[in-house]
Amino acid sequence: MARPDAVNILIVDDVPEKLLALSALLEGPGVHIVTASNGREALRKLLTQEFAVILLDVQMPDMDGFETAALIRQRKQTAGTPIIFVTGYGDELHQAQGYSLGAVDFIQTPVLPDVLKTKVGVFVELFRMREQIKRQAEERITLAREQALRAAAEEATRRSEFLAAASTALTASLDLDETVRGLLRVVVPQLADLAAVTLAGEPAQPWRSVLGWAGANGIVQTAVADARTGPFDELRQIQDRVLATGEPELVEGLDVANPFSSLPDNAGQLYRALVLPLLARGRTLGALTLAQWTSCRGIGPPDRAVAEDLADRAAIALDNARLYRDIRDADRRKDEFLAMLSHELRNPLAPIRSSVEILRRLGGEAPDMRWARDVITRQLHHMTRLIDDLLDVSRITRGTIKLQPVPTDLGAVVARAIETVRPMIEAREHHLSVRLPEGPVPVIGDPTRLEQVAANLFNNAAKYTPTGGRIDISLRTEKGDAVLSCKDTGVGIPEEMLEQIFQPFTQVNRTLDRSEGGLGIGLTLVKRLVEMQGGSVCALSDGPGKGSEFIVRMRLTDRGVWVDEKRPVHQAAENGASDQQAPAGKSRTHRRILVVDDNVDGAQSLAMLLRTVGHEVQVHHDGLRALEAARTFRPDVVLLDIGLPGLNGFEVAERLRGQSGGGELLLVAITGYGQASDVRRAQEAGFDHHFIKPIDPDVLQDLLSRPTRNAECAMHGTPTRSASEG
Ligand code: ADP
Repeated sequence: MARPDAVNILIVDDVPEKLLALSALLEGPGVHIVTASNGREALRKLLTQEFAVILLDVQMPDMDGFETAALIRQRKQTAGTPIIFVTGYGDELHQAQGYSLGAVDFIQTPVLPDVLKTKVGVFVELFRMREQIKRQAEERITLAREQALRAAAEEATRRSEFLAAASTALTASLDLDETVRGLLRVVVPQLADLAAVTLAGEPAQPWRSVLGWAGANGIVQTAVADARTGPFDELRQIQDRVLATGEPELVEGLDVANPFSSLPDNAGQLYRALVLPLLARGRTLGALTLAQWTSCRGIGPPDRAVAEDLADRAAIALDNARLYRDIRDADRRKDEFLAMLSHELRNPLAPIRSSVEILRRLGGEAPDMRWARDVITRQLHHMTRLIDDLLDVSRITRGTIKLQPVPTDLGAVVARAIETVRPMIEAREHHLSVRLPEGPVPVIGDPTRLEQVAANLFNNAAKYTPTGGRIDISLRTEKGDAVLSCKDTGVGIPEEMLEQIFQPFTQVNRTLDRSEGGLGIGLTLVKRLVEMQGGSVCALSDGPGKGSEFIVRMRLTDRGVWVDEKRPVHQAAENGASDQQAPAGKSRTHRRILVVDDNVDGAQSLAMLLRTVGHEVQVHHDGLRALEAARTFRPDVVLLDIGLPGLNGFEVAERLRGQSGGGELLLVAITGYGQASDVRRAQEAGFDHHFIKPIDPDVLQDLLSRPTRNAECAMHGTPTRSASEG
């Protein structure tokens, strides 16, 4: 078997003995002899194999050696293969014919072995050398190709790594400004010496870019540039064009001076800029400028494919950040609106409350009259609750609600909450069963807020349970938890809504009989308030018509003494709501009272109420008049609204305190602003008391019957809430 690197020699002769003899002479290591007994066979073999040399007998029947040689020369693949003729004729004519047919040599028979070996050996060596050169050339080509492929793969990896890192940086934040600066940090210095992000449609138009460049210390710095900054006119025009057309532009030979002192000294001027549109959702959101210094003149522009890919990703990230900002803005505006709305809605409640109180004090015991008064009172309380809920929700979403957790007896809290909803339960003829543990159930929580949570759940049970249904309230302890359950036989809740009902403004069925109203925020408050106090709440129901159960869990505590152990047995009607409860008749302490409120109805009705109990009252609707009146009327008490036109209530209070005899005045703020900061400001301005509208007439009357001023500004909220949060 021939070695794979053996060199082929073809011997063509019609005489088998000669073939044998020649083969025997030439055989050796590294050589492979192929024989053919005529010209045609030789040509066939030449089709499939390559030979270092052909030994060709001249005299052969059919096709002689010369004819065979002529055909060999005609084929492109074999045209250069050396042919040595083996012949008995040594005449010159013969030889000339042979050379003309491409022979390289002649060997006379009888053959001299050494001569033959030497001559053939030369061609074998030549062939070997040629083969080696060919192999080396191929190896070099393969190597070069591999190197090129590796470099391309490395470049592709580098690009994709760069783009992946860029994507990470771009999606790290949803803040628009952060995203812009993140983009600049990604492109400098890899793609640009100085980069700019110009956003279309941003407030600081006509032109505002954020620039990024590598400072002298190599750290990427960013700064906002606007139309006034630096000699950027040329660049700005290109950016404006890209913003208008949405088409990228590459500009060379710029002449823009270095705008910042913190740029490296050798930076020179801006020479080249690639400005790419930032396109998202079919709109040109802005432009990304990748600029290079004069020092980069010899270097090509930044890798366009990478830059464009990056611009696409950046556009999506910026679009997302912008959408997120818009949503947040809308949300903030909604929260502000809710806060403002609930504040404004409080104002009309004050005069209504005063007026109904006047009616009550004026008497009139006809059953219809009493009924009408009670309706107004009840609806007023309902309205106050709704507005308070609204305020609470906006406080919770803005994160401004503050709880005052103390060790609390949850049993007492639950009992009080039951009392607040008992009238509704009785009105609907529900069967109420209550199971509370004998002893206290100590938890850490804000008692007012916990009562609000429980009352909300009980109120819902009454609201969503038809007349005659059952409501079971139980409180128990279980594995270190206090577990409050409120179960009803009411309308039930579909399974898919059991989680959702805790989301703001979610109601299962808006077409339901809405006689009890509701804004779909009660359960949101319940959940947030419970969770803020470390507890949890969940809803259970077997489906529509099958009743519901709400379960609140709070951790039990063994800490301290709780302040709230007294449980009410009977509910006194809500403050100011009942004819029998309030002390009728004239007050024993008669005061000179100045009422100042720009809400005319509010001021007049409060004044009238005060007059009915024997006080002397003057009314004014703005601060300056009030100050003047105070000098002549010389009141003992000033009931002062804060949101007044011109001088606000704080300023009026300060000036009143400064007037002669002002130190003795009882100064009472009556306002819709119930934030902790408002109370503090009221105190600083010299107020003795701070009331949230609508004012409770009994609490006010009680205050007016006391002889002296308080040392500190006291806070008076609505009956069920502390209004000390903003
Ligand atoms: P509102 O009662 O003002 O609509 P809530 O936040 O208190 O708002 O309740 C949200 C919704 O959850 C209600 O509209 C009602 O569809 C459902 N829901 C609450 N409590 C019950 C209950 N006890 N039984 C049936 N559905 C209830």
